[in-house]
Amino acid sequence: MRNKRHSAKLQAAGIAIVILSVTALHLITPLDRITLHEIYQRLYYIPIIAAAVLFGMRGGFGAALFASLAYIPHISLHWQHRNFDYSLNQYAEIILFNVIGIVTGVLSDRSRRARARTERTAEELQKAYAELRQTFEQLLQAERLTSLGELSAAVVHEVRNPLGSIKGAVEILEDALPPDNPRREFADIAKREVERLDRLVGEFLHFARPPKPAVAPADVNEIVRSVATLTEQRAATQNVRVELSLAPDLPLLMIDAEQIKQVLLNLTINALQAMPGGGRIMLRTFSANGDGVAIEVEDEGGGVDTAIALRIFDPFFTTKEKGVGLGLSIAYKIAAQHGGSLSVSNSERGATFKLQFPSTPPQSARH
Ligand code: ADP
Repeated sequence: MRNKRHSAKLQAAGIAIVILSVTALHLITPLDRITLHEIYQRLYYIPIIAAAVLFGMRGGFGAALFASLAYIPHISLHWQHRNFDYSLNQYAEIILFNVIGIVTGVLSDRSRRARARTERTAEELQKAYAELRQTFEQLLQAERLTSLGELSAAVVHEVRNPLGSIKGAVEILEDALPPDNPRREFADIAKREVERLDRLVGEFLHFARPPKPAVAPADVNEIVRSVATLTEQRAATQNVRVELSLAPDLPLLMIDAEQIKQVLLNLTINALQAMPGGGRIMLRTFSANGDGVAIEVEDEGGGVDTAIALRIFDPFFTTKEKGVGLGLSIAYKIAAQHGGSLSVSNSERGATFKLQFPSTPPQSARH
């Protein structure tokens, strides 16, 4: 900004110098070299037009006025008495200076405004394009998660049915054994293992396809506090401090508190896993986008590599040796089911995951 003002001053000074130089030419040229004087008086148009193009109507008119004031004394002193007709002609030229200065300035102002409008439109278009791209990414993500949910449901269904048959078959075999037969113990083991598998598969389905949120008015600060309490001990063993920065007076949100707690737990555990050498996790709540609410989990674990940033919300994407790669994709889905969003950005020392809710939940998230 200061640079711009500085260069405008330089340009204005340059214009003034040219006008003064043309006037000086008039003054040092003998009056009998009339052709030269005619050429000089037209030279004034160059700084006038330049000022109009650079500074608009005010610049054009200002330069024309300045040229007039510089030129008039020369006419009245040297020409008015010597050649009256010629001096009239020069006064007419002065009027023309001002007309040209004003007209060129008005046109230049107009084109400047048109350019500004075009630039604004281009900026708006770019913003709209970026939003469209983001929506597209979210749609793609939602699509991938839906496929995952359907696939899991199909697999779970296929596994559960044979499990039921195995359990039934074991019970029949067990019934055939006398009560004191030691083999009954094996039947018991088989039944217990089948039940364990059945539970596991059920949990996986629940995990991959979270049920519709059971929404009720909830205090997000309360949820964040309980996540901090739940993770404090583990954090302490890792030399990690869990700090809170909670905005007061946030509105109650229509959300499924248990699901949101699960999401925040996942994010906090990921943050802990990213900081084996200790550090700080900041859990933050604040108002966002007007009357919406945002929750951030910020860590100091070095952040998410830009090469994988687009994939971390994909199901089964993991960079951890024992990772499953479902945590973030499920969190993303839960956020979307609440009409909200989950995004990541890198801060100076680590990653910041931002969970955002609109203040008015969408119809589907209401009971
Ligand atoms: P998992 O934890 O089983 O790997 P997630 O879906 O929770 O599955 O995470 C996917 C990947 O995202 C992780 O393997 C890791 O590469 C990256 N990630 C998640 N949270 C963080 C974080 N706080 N800092 C850096 N990378 C992270």
